[in-house]
Amino acid sequence: SIPLGYFGGIGAGSRQGILFKGSVFLDLITQVKTVVMDKTGTLTQGVFKVQDVQTSGISEHELTRLTVALESKSTHPVATAILAYAGTGEPLLPAENVEEIPGHGLKGTVGGKTVLAGNAKLLRKFNIPFDENLTTIPFTVVMVAVEGRFAGSLTIADQEKDDAAETVKQLHRMGLKTVMLSGDKATVVQAVAQNVGVDEAVGDLLPEDKVREVERLKQALSANPKQKLAFVGDGVNDAPVVALADVGIAMGGLGSDATIETADVVIQTDQPSKIATAIKIGKATRQIVW
Ligand code: ADP
Ligand code: MG
Repeated sequence: SIPLGYFGGIGAGSRQGILFKGSVFLDLITQVKTVVMDKTGTLTQGVFKVQDVQTSGISEHELTRLTVALESKSTHPVATAILAYAGTGEPLLPAENVEEIPGHGLKGTVGGKTVLAGNAKLLRKFNIPFDENLTTIPFTVVMVAVEGRFAGSLTIADQEKDDAAETVKQLHRMGLKTVMLSGDKATVVQAVAQNVGVDEAVGDLLPEDKVREVERLKQALSANPKQKLAFVGDGVNDAPVVALADVGIAMGGLGSDATIETADVVIQTDQPSKIATAIKIGKATRQIVW
C-alpha cells in the first residue's frame, strides 16, 4: 500500500499547479542534484518581438510578406513574433511544401519562390552566404533567403521571466547545480545566462546535441546513485531530453503535447519558481512518509 504522505504530496502539488505522475517522482525529485533548463519559454517568456528588419536586394514589404507566409505554417515562438509584427492587414501568400527543420528554421515555396527563414545554421546548410557579423549580435536573428540568395534579416528579442533569476538563486541555496541549454545562438544564451545566474549555459544546440549534453551531465553524477538530474522544458524538441532525465519536467500551459506526455512532472503554470516548489513538496512529503 502507498503511504498516506504520498497522497498528501500529490494533492499539495496539484493545488500549486504541479502534477506528479506518480508518488515515485515525489521521492526522485528530492534526490535531484543538477537542474537542467531549456531557455526559450522556460527561463524566458518565449514571447519574441521584432525589433528591426534589414533587407538585401528586395523591398522590406516583399521580405516581410514572403517570411510571414512561410512562418504562418509554424508554431515556434519566433514564428508567432513575425506574424504579430506583420499584423492582419494583408492576405497571406500561399506557402507550399513547408518543412520545419528542428533547431534551424523553415524551408518552403512561397508564391513560386524557394524561401528559407531561420538561423545561421540553416543558411550554412543550404550554402547561402551571409554577413557573418549577424551572428555576433546578442539578439535572435531570423535570416531569410529567397531563391538561394540572402534577402535580409529580422532581429527579434525575448525577455527573461520575472522569477527566473530568483528561481536560480533558490536552487543554488538548495545546493543544486543549474544548467541552461538552448538551440538559440551562443551570444543570446550567454547574455540570458548572465542575467539569470545559471552555473553553466550552452547554446547553438540541435535537439540531438541537447540529448548529448544531458547524457554528459548525467554521467557526471553517476558516481553517486542518489544524485539525480532533472530537465525542465516546454518545446516539442524537448521531449527526448525530458525522457532521458531522471525527473523530466514539462512547463507551461503552452507546452507541446509530446513533452507533456513524456514528462514525469508537469508544471501547469509558466513560472520556473514552481521547480523549487516541486522539490520542497517532495522533501516535505518524505518527512511525513519516513
Ligand atoms: P530553444 O532551445 O531556445 O527552445 P529551438 O531549438 O526551438 O530553441 O530553436 C533554435 C533556433 O532555431 C531558434 O532560436 C531560431 O533561430 C531557429 N528557429 C527555429 N524555428 C524557427 C522558425 N519557425 N523560424 C525561424 N527560425 C526558427
Ligand atoms: Mg524551447
